[in-house]
Amino acid sequence: MIETDYLIIGSGAVGMAFTDVIFAETQARIVIIDRHHGPGGHWNDAYPFVRLHQPSAYYGVNSRQLGGDSRDASRLNTGMCERATSAELVSYYEQIMQAFLASGRVQYFPMCDYVGDYAHQHRFRSLMSGQEHGVRVHRKIVDTSYLNTAVPSTHPPKYAIAPEVQCVPLNDLPRVKHQPSGYTVVGSGKTGIDACLWLLDNGVAAKEICWIMPRDAWYQDRANVQPGDDFFTQSYGSFATQMEAVAQAQSVDDLFAKLESSGQLLRLDPKVQPGMYHGALVSRAELEELRTIKNVVRLGRVQRIEGDRIILEQGSIPADPERLYVDCSASAVERRPIVPVFDGNKITPQMVRTFQPTFSGAFIAHVEATVESEAEKNQICAVIPMPDQPIHWLTMLAVNMANQYRWSKNEGLRHWLEQSRLDGFTAMAHRVAATDTAKLALLQRYGASAGPATTNLRMLLPQAA
Ligand SMILES: Cc1cc2nc3c(=O)[nH]c(=O)nc-3n(C[C@H](O)[C@H](O)[C@H](O)COP(=O)(O)OP(=O)(O)OC[C@H]3O[C@@H](n4cnc5c(N)ncnc54)[C@H](O)[C@@H]3O)c2cc1C
Repeated sequence: MIETDYLIIGSGAVGMAFTDVIFAETQARIVIIDRHHGPGGHWNDAYPFVRLHQPSAYYGVNSRQLGGDSRDASRLNTGMCERATSAELVSYYEQIMQAFLASGRVQYFPMCDYVGDYAHQHRFRSLMSGQEHGVRVHRKIVDTSYLNTAVPSTHPPKYAIAPEVQCVPLNDLPRVKHQPSGYTVVGSGKTGIDACLWLLDNGVAAKEICWIMPRDAWYQDRANVQPGDDFFTQSYGSFATQMEAVAQAQSVDDLFAKLESSGQLLRLDPKVQPGMYHGALVSRAELEELRTIKNVVRLGRVQRIEGDRIILEQGSIPADPERLYVDCSASAVERRPIVPVFDGNKITPQMVRTFQPTFSGAFIAHVEATVESEAEKNQICAVIPMPDQPIHWLTMLAVNMANQYRWSKNEGLRHWLEQSRLDGFTAMAHRVAATDTAKLALLQRYGASAGPATTNLRMLLPQAA
């Protein structure tokens, strides 16, 4: 029987962020198990040309910088903060795991499946040998598998594909040896965007690409989430503008109109109403590039691809068996029911700050290490529901604002946030000099609209129900 204080199921980005803080802030013994052969979770399965969608500066674990704090030189993101590739991420997590193991306080069991009851009987089984081990957990288990990240290489498409049709996950795009008659990208989420941009970047003419878009999405402008003092005006300007839009909106429709006209939300085609919000980040240059693709099919989800036609929910279109279909239909993050983060001897990490899973994993570990009562822990860590539809922009914001407010009233948490590298923005505000009147005015604008925004949310939220 293996003895441990914490048993972490999953060495993905969230398991690693949690472990890093619990390791730093306690003397606990930790056992980590994972089905993958190494740490990094789905980044091990990612397509070779993937990059983080956000800056590296505030992704990863709290104790170790990710990347070199350089500026992106790529054509469509010039001047923005660097974003790690999957290879960098896997290497980063491997180095962190090695440091954990060298301490003697952490044991790692890759290629192992948790087969316990998530309550009192904890067991894992080697995927290679079938050998099983029992684990006696003195404190808690941490189940990072709950959010169930899905990527196209590990989640086959849900639509049927006739045998003569060539359909590959976007991981296989760089392996194409013979030029097909054209490319059809299935899926309008962030992986669909990445597939289209990669094709265009590699010389495929926009007219050769057909983009099957079950739902149009609202996007966020990547320029608005850049950390660091150089970006202060743009980032805090964006936060203030969003707060003012919420404070002043007469209705949900008016809110979205304000968010769009002020550049907070972007869409592919101004004539098409988005039906989805998954928080995808794009640069404006990327959006312009995507708009060169004119063959966009809006007939719902694909049901079946045949040699000569594609059958979709709302109709069918002719097809060509010589085309290559690129599957981008896996939904990265599932909208699962919210469960309490802290529940007896089980911790279920979920998002406690909008679209910040690694920050959330680290923050939850800090709360675990420093707060006694379970009720208080759960109050501090109110879960932000995962979004799917546009209205979820608002429901996420409501919980996010309540969390921020609660944390700002707690001196210990405030201090931790100011020091945390995974919190891209608190330290930025904290560093503003008393003489920097322009930045102080922006912070004042942001702060002044938070109260009215909270009040107006009470009027807007019932419309979201
Ligand atoms: C293309 C792409 C780009 C993204 N970009 C960003 C970004 O820029 N910023 C951002 O914040 N987020 C981004 N995300 C979201 C991303 O999902 C999270 O950042 C994070 O990587 C999720 O980590 P995780 O630990 O929750 O999940 P996973 O990476 O899925 O890790 C969970 C781990 O648990 C293991 N596991 C599950 N069940 C068991 C079991 N029973 N036994 C043993 N092991 C088990 C799995 O093998 C896996 O390794 C992106 C996602 C995708 C797909």
